[in-house]
Amino acid sequence: MSLAELLTAQIAAQGPMRLDAYMSACLLHPEHGYYTTRQPFGTQGDFITAPEISQMFGELVGLALAQSWLDQGAPAPFTLAELGPGRGTLMADILRACARVPDFIEAAQLILVEASPALRDVQRETLAPHSPLWLDDLSALPAQPTFIVANEFFDALPIRQFVRDGHLWRERQVGLEDGALVFGLGPAQPQPALAHRLEDTNDGDLIEDCAAATPILGTLAAQIEAQGGAALIFDYGDWRTLGDTLQAVRKHHPSDPLTAPGQADLTAHVDFEALINASAPAKPSRVTPQGIFLERLGITARAQALAKSLTGAALDTHIAAHRRLTHPQEMGNLFKTFGIVPTGAAMLPGLET
Ligand code: SAH
Repeated sequence: MSLAELLTAQIAAQGPMRLDAYMSACLLHPEHGYYTTRQPFGTQGDFITAPEISQMFGELVGLALAQSWLDQGAPAPFTLAELGPGRGTLMADILRACARVPDFIEAAQLILVEASPALRDVQRETLAPHSPLWLDDLSALPAQPTFIVANEFFDALPIRQFVRDGHLWRERQVGLEDGALVFGLGPAQPQPALAHRLEDTNDGDLIEDCAAATPILGTLAAQIEAQGGAALIFDYGDWRTLGDTLQAVRKHHPSDPLTAPGQADLTAHVDFEALINASAPAKPSRVTPQGIFLERLGITARAQALAKSLTGAALDTHIAAHRRLTHPQEMGNLFKTFGIVPTGAAMLPGLET
């Protein structure tokens, strides 16, 4: 049975599904989920992420984390962690760049939070020399300073969507029409958690809520505040999202989120306001465009240094990658970053409070 058939049978028996449940099934169903069954990244896959575009991304992220580790007294041992490491490329670049930082690699205990067994296998190959430990979530982090990165992790978490109806909200659901999956709206109900969105929306506006993100950020921030460390989070989105940002991507092209469930990547823009608010009691930075952050960390100098050993098509690709990561019309502005450090600690380089 395909995932479409399974979901159709479930909806026929139990009624319309919430969007977060639909998204979870599409991405992480044990047999049919998009991440559980395939390797979607890179030029051959469905989409390409910053670390897959250029090694420069991971190198600069690694050096930013290492600087924060030095600023906090070079604690040993410490946890070096990643949420949703994909193919392990970002972590491999971080580790390579940080090999020159005295004692950093020796003190680091590598932890990868990854839901997909297929991707864990890929990460095992990429990162084997560093003996990573895999966790399902952040609840079992060791009690020691924790330096953690997440790129395009929060956009993959399941969201709910609500359409405003007076002072009430109607939830967008996945139902059935003539045997096919269709979107519909549930009954109008109060949503106390969305009270702040009554300030900036009008009747009929659609808003999104990623309830799964808040406890993850909360655990991370509590760990950093209590144990020391830092988090560096990258994703696309804005301060409060408005409108439908759910998108399905298949082989580098947009597709319909309800067609071929489990075969397309489903993501939504990240609401940075919600992430920042969930960062208490630790200290978050301002949300900063990725391009500005990478420029502040010296990506242009690094790009020029790497360019010296390149010619022809490889040089063209390298120049295009630099542009893609930083240019405001490419990833530079849509993608944003912020950091979290303990209250009283220096902010990560390239970011400000
Ligand atoms: N950071 C990588 C991959 C981003 S894709 C890169 O930049 O290339 C999202 C990653 O998060 C995948 O590895 C996916 O399997 C993982 N993931 C998605 N939802 C998850 C969850 N709920 N718990 C743990 N990992 C998850």
